[in-house]
Amino acid sequence: MLSGLDPSGGAGIQADIQAITSLGCHPLPVLTCLTVQDTRNVYGAEAVDAGLIRRQLECLADDTPIHAIKTGALGNAAVVEVLVEFLNRHRGIPVITDPVIKAAGGGDLADDHLIDAMKTQLFPLAEMITPNGVELALLGNSDDPDIAVDHLLAGGCRSVLATGGHGTGDRIINTLYSQASTPQHWEIERVGGEYHGTGCTLAAAISAGRAAGLSARAAIAQAQNYVQRAILSALEVGKGQPVPDRGIAWRS
Ligand code: PLP
Repeated sequence: MLSGLDPSGGAGIQADIQAITSLGCHPLPVLTCLTVQDTRNVYGAEAVDAGLIRRQLECLADDTPIHAIKTGALGNAAVVEVLVEFLNRHRGIPVITDPVIKAAGGGDLADDHLIDAMKTQLFPLAEMITPNGVELALLGNSDDPDIAVDHLLAGGCRSVLATGGHGTGDRIINTLYSQASTPQHWEIERVGGEYHGTGCTLAAAISAGRAAGLSARAAIAQAQNYVQRAILSALEVGKGQPVPDRGIAWRS
């Protein structure tokens, strides 16, 4: 996966490593940016040099079969360009993209160049993007989720898993829209509260399912159950949002 470092251990690359490992896969962690962050918010971020990431990706691909790629915070547009070049040379790997733009506390994790590079270059190569409600409205240029999804699909996204975790109501509704088929909905009981790193955890868990050979739909179903269980035993790490306990023993 390609993700940023959240030193509070709640989101980013640590969330990915824990989720992917818990679901029985071996993660290859490529760090895209370093953040200044606690469980309440992000206060700064610096991207890793894109040339170094290029060398890491090629080095890994020469050595290790890669069965899925998950992307999270990407640092800057140059990192997206390196990833896109890599994906164009290594076709056929399912890419699950969590389009990270802001931390839950409101801190920025992407500038306009990065958002534009994700939309125009990365989304068309991804098997699925997993925006929450805020990301969907921003990326799809509409507060109406159906219109926002239409814009994204028309712009070249193959499928959009619109997540409802940041909304309200007793049940979370996640909906998978794709160019090829009618939307599919999942309803999950809402535990209540806000948790740090749930979007990262969900996308990483989906990528683990895909790497293990599950269909996209089965991988989503497994990932939702995993995230819900991790939230049910969330840890009060700091003064802000609790962190899902991704180390839970997992049996599907
Ligand atoms: N990646 C990094 C490095 C982060 O610091 C954060 C957020 O706070 C995220 C991703 C976004 O996390 P999520 O999508 O789980 O809210």
